[in-house]
Amino acid sequence: MKKVIIKKTEEIENWRRNINSEINFIPTMGNLHNGHVKLISTAKNENSNVNLVSIFINPLQFDNKLDLENYPKTIDNDIKISFSNGADAIFIPSNEDIYPPNNKNIKFLKAPIDLSSKLCGLSRIGHFDGVCTVVYRLLNLIKPKNLYLGEKDWQQLLILKNLVLTKKLNVAIKSIPTQRDFDGIPLSSRNLNLSKNERKLIRFFSSELLEAKKNFQQDKKINLNQIIKRLSAKKISIEYLEHLHPHTLQKARLEDNISLLAGAIRCGETRLIDHVFLMKRRPIIAIDGPAGSGKSTVTKLIAKKLKLLYLDTGAMYRALSWLIIKESIDYKKEKKLQNILKEISIVFKSNANSHQDVYVNNYCVTEEIRSQKISSIVSKISSIKEVRKFLVEEQRKIGESGGLVAEGRDIGTTVFPHAELKIFLTASIDERAKRRKSDKNSKDSQEIDIHTLKELIKKRDFEDSNREISPLTKANDAIEIITDGYTINEVVDKIIDLYNDKIPKETEIK
Ligand code: C5P
Repeated sequence: MKKVIIKKTEEIENWRRNINSEINFIPTMGNLHNGHVKLISTAKNENSNVNLVSIFINPLQFDNKLDLENYPKTIDNDIKISFSNGADAIFIPSNEDIYPPNNKNIKFLKAPIDLSSKLCGLSRIGHFDGVCTVVYRLLNLIKPKNLYLGEKDWQQLLILKNLVLTKKLNVAIKSIPTQRDFDGIPLSSRNLNLSKNERKLIRFFSSELLEAKKNFQQDKKINLNQIIKRLSAKKISIEYLEHLHPHTLQKARLEDNISLLAGAIRCGETRLIDHVFLMKRRPIIAIDGPAGSGKSTVTKLIAKKLKLLYLDTGAMYRALSWLIIKESIDYKKEKKLQNILKEISIVFKSNANSHQDVYVNNYCVTEEIRSQKISSIVSKISSIKEVRKFLVEEQRKIGESGGLVAEGRDIGTTVFPHAELKIFLTASIDERAKRRKSDKNSKDSQEIDIHTLKELIKKRDFEDSNREISPLTKANDAIEIITDGYTINEVVDKIIDLYNDKIPKETEIK
């Protein structure tokens, strides 16, 4: 494809019509560095869409005239960098193109107060309104499928996600982690204006944040005052340093697993921001739902794609049921049940096909636990208080350091109530019976007629939803997905999008 430079807004429409492809859009203010390169190359490598980079220094987002005048301008180099890293087109409009003097159609937007009135918004009055206005204008002109933004400007990212949501724009926001220079400071076009001494100060500031992140992994604690003291001792002028919830930007709460430590400092004329995410454990996804909703297939694929541990809690209830049947235990007798809970060991192991096998006391039961015999007794056994207490504890042990996706009936409500993402997966009874009938892992189900299968599923639903302890129910903060009419990949992609929206890329372990 011929690489083009577009200078007029009118040309955008023409170009769009000719490319015959979806667009990845990477908005920039020029003076490109490796952070921008990462955005462009991520877009290029992620899909086969056409990549458009815009270079426009938006006057509306500068609250200080001098800052606007001093903003580094390196257009020839920017063009080279963009094209050599995967841009197919570069849009370089003028002020008049973006804000035609008499065009009443330009919407001057206001950023939401709750997100914009703190952190950088405190000193940069009108900045986020300007950002919203220009991005809204550009999105309407370009109509991209994906918008690529850096997590470096986390507050801006949240405000733009909110813009896309409230204006119901049909664009997916993709983010990349903050890119840091060799000495640890975040790459920024403004770094060019730093003197040697100023650079030393920002390096100290960034290293304090990175150190706080490291310490938090061990102590699960942060002491803001101590950090402020150390920064002040170096005569670093702190504009703000706050520990917040990463999405609402309200004060971080004790139960927040991921929180944001964000700060801004002034070095001479230059103002610099940096942040880190503090994490108590790696993220957890909870997927609950009734039998046959597609949970297992979807959960396994998500685990693979996001490199998370896969935990099938239903298999644990099935494994226990298997042992109870095998040893003909009268599970209604408390003593007998206690004994079996003491002696059982349930272990998951990856097999040669990269699937998980389930072992009960070192015996592989992967296939046997899927029999109709087990399916018909498991709900009764799983409704016993002692059984639930025992298995929930086992499940929590497996999920202690996070980094897993767990499926079951009570994951979001009981096992991991603080999971970062909770999904309630369901489907109509007809659809679920159809799926069970064609389930290769459940040979018995293939032999039962569809009507009987429906009745069996309804019975299990009833038992699971009406038991006294942690019944199957949607957690208040779970997102319900009804999977009728959707392919497995569509459901998986939807959940991964939701995950990416909640979990900063910076928290990923490389
Ligand atoms: O998901 P699966 O069909 O393998 O689950 C088998 C049974 O185990 C469910 O019908 C339910 O009775 C029980 N279960 C549960 N809580 C979970 C997972 C499964 O009670 N978290």
